[in-house]
Amino acid sequence: MPPVRRGLPGAAARLALLVGVAACARLTATPSPIPADALPRRLVLALDGIDYRDLAAQHGAGRFAGFRPPSRLVSTFPSISDVAWHDILGLLPPAGYQRVYFSHATGGLVGRPIDAITPIEYEERMDQAFGGRFHHLSAYLISGRVARQEVDEVVEAFWRTRGRATVYAYNVGPDALQHTRGDLEGYLRHLDRRLATLQRDYRARTGRPLEIVLLSDHGHNRAVGANFLPLVEALADAGFRVRGRLEAPEDVALSVDGVTTGFGIFAAPTVVDRVAHTVADVAGVDVVTWQGEGGRIHVRQGRAVGMIERDPRAPSRLAWRVSSGDPLAHAAVVQRLARDGRLDAEGFAEDSVWVRASLDAPYPAALPRIVRGHEVITLNPAPILVSVAATARVGFGMVSVANRLRPLGGTHGALDTSSALGVVMTTFRDTHDDVTWRVRAQLDDFADLDEPHGGTTAVRLTTGTRLVADPRGHFRAVALPDDARGAGLLVRLDDPALDDATPLIIEVRRPVRGLPDVVTVARAATTLGVALSGDGPAPRFLPLSPLGLALPSNAAVALHLFVGGDGEGARAYPPVAARTDGAGRVVVP
Ligand SMILES: [Zn+2]
Repeated sequence: MPPVRRGLPGAAARLALLVGVAACARLTATPSPIPADALPRRLVLALDGIDYRDLAAQHGAGRFAGFRPPSRLVSTFPSISDVAWHDILGLLPPAGYQRVYFSHATGGLVGRPIDAITPIEYEERMDQAFGGRFHHLSAYLISGRVARQEVDEVVEAFWRTRGRATVYAYNVGPDALQHTRGDLEGYLRHLDRRLATLQRDYRARTGRPLEIVLLSDHGHNRAVGANFLPLVEALADAGFRVRGRLEAPEDVALSVDGVTTGFGIFAAPTVVDRVAHTVADVAGVDVVTWQGEGGRIHVRQGRAVGMIERDPRAPSRLAWRVSSGDPLAHAAVVQRLARDGRLDAEGFAEDSVWVRASLDAPYPAALPRIVRGHEVITLNPAPILVSVAATARVGFGMVSVANRLRPLGGTHGALDTSSALGVVMTTFRDTHDDVTWRVRAQLDDFADLDEPHGGTTAVRLTTGTRLVADPRGHFRAVALPDDARGAGLLVRLDDPALDDATPLIIEVRRPVRGLPDVVTVARAATTLGVALSGDGPAPRFLPLSPLGLALPSNAAVALHLFVGGDGEGARAYPPVAARTDGAGRVVVP
C-alpha cells in the first residue's frame, strides 16, 4: 500500500475504528456440503508488503509445508503498491504512483486526502478484497487483528465462491501491520495454519489438491528508528518551492502520500538537473535518477554518477555508462556480462539480460526498474525518482491518524534490497526469481482475472482507447463503436439495472471555500449511449463530450450522476472526482 495514509479528523477515525472492528468481527462459519466441481481450483492470494526474506525464513523453518520454495519477486521502483500490483497483474498503469498524484494534464496534484484510501483498479478486480475506506483505516489502527481476520475472511469467502476457476484475493493487512510495528511472525504463523487447514479440507472434499499462489508486491525495510529527511528545507535553500502545482520555474511538486523511502519529484524540464543534484546532496538520500536528453536516464549515488542509455534501434536494449565511482554497485554485473559475451560492441543488452544478471546485486534489476519507473509504471511518471537509505524516510508532515496513535514501523519504496524483494510461491509449480512485469507468465497470465467489481456503486472515468488497450479486460477484443471512440471521455457505469434508454442527469459541481462539490457549474439530461459487450457482464458508458457541458478551465470538479430524473425516487451515484484542462475539458487522468 501507499505506506501510511493521510489523516482524517479524530472523530472520523474513532468512527472508523468502531465500524472497522464490527466489519471484521464476523465469526468463522462451518462450511456446508458443496459439490466438489463447483468450487474454484485455485486461490491467488495477493499479500501486500510481505518481504521475501521473512517468508523464506518461515519456509526454511518448516512452515508453509504444502508450498514449493519461495522465489524473489522484485518490485517496481518506487517499490510501492499501486504501481507494483498493476504491473504484476498486467493491468493498465494507474494514473499516479499513489492515489494522490501529480497530473501532467493539469500541472498539479490531483486527488483529495480521502482518495488515498479509495479503492483503485487492482483492488476492484479482486474476487475478494478489503478496499473499503473503513477497512483501510482500521488496518492501520488495529493492524494485528485486522490482518489475521483478513486471512480468515479469504478462507470463508473461498468456500462460498461458485462459478470461478480462480479466486483472487487481496489483503492490505500485512503491509499495514509492518508500518505499525505489528507482529509479522505471528501473522505468518496464522496464515500458515489457515492455509494448511484450507488445503486439507479442500482435498478431503474434492479429492484433489487446491492450487494456491501466494505473492507480494514489495518487501519491508524494518527500519523502525529512521529519521525524516529535511528535503523541503534543502530544496528551499536551493531556491525551490515545494507546492501542489507547477506554475513558476522554481516550483517543485512531490508525489508522496504517507511515509516512504521511494518517490517521484516533478519540476519544469529546465530545472530537473538542478533539483536532482540538490536532492542527491541531502544526507540520507541514497540514489537519485532523472531524465535527460535523448531518452537517457542519469543516476547519482553519493558522488558516483552513471547513465542508462537506450539502444535507438531497440528500446528494450539498455547500456550502463559509468562516469565516476560505481553507482548502483553494478561493476561486477557488467564484468560478468562482458565476460559471458552478453553485451554487444556498444555495451547494450536486453533488459531481461540485465534483470537476470543483477538479481543478487544490492540494487536488483536496477536498470530496467529505473527506466520503467520513469516511463511505464504510471500514466503520470516523474522526471526525477528518489531512493532513500533505510536509515531515513520522507513523510512531509502528512502523518496519518494511525501514526499519531501508534509509533512508526518500517516502510518501503527504495530501489535496493531493503524494500525491493516481494515474494512468489505456489503449492503446485516451482517458480523462479522474477520481476513485476514478467511474473504473470509463470502463473498462467492471470488470464481469468475479473472485470472490476464495483457493483452498483462503481462509476469511473475512462476512454475507449484505455478500455481496448487493457490486456486483462473484457473489452480488449471488442471493436469500439464510433461514438465511443469519438467521444474521448466515457463515464463507465457498472450497474446491471441500467440499459441504453435509462434517463440520466449529469451535474458537474465545484468545491467552494473548503466545502466539497456544492456549486453546480454545468448540467445535462441524457441517456446512456454506448453499450460495449465483452465476454463479461456489460457495463454501460456515457460519452461526455456530446453533452456540451460548459466547464471552467483548470479546475477541480466532481461529476454527479442521477438516475430517474430530478424528483422523488431519483438515485444518485457516488461522485467521481476529476479535473478540467485549459480548454475546460475533463481529463483522464
Ligand atoms: Zn506499505
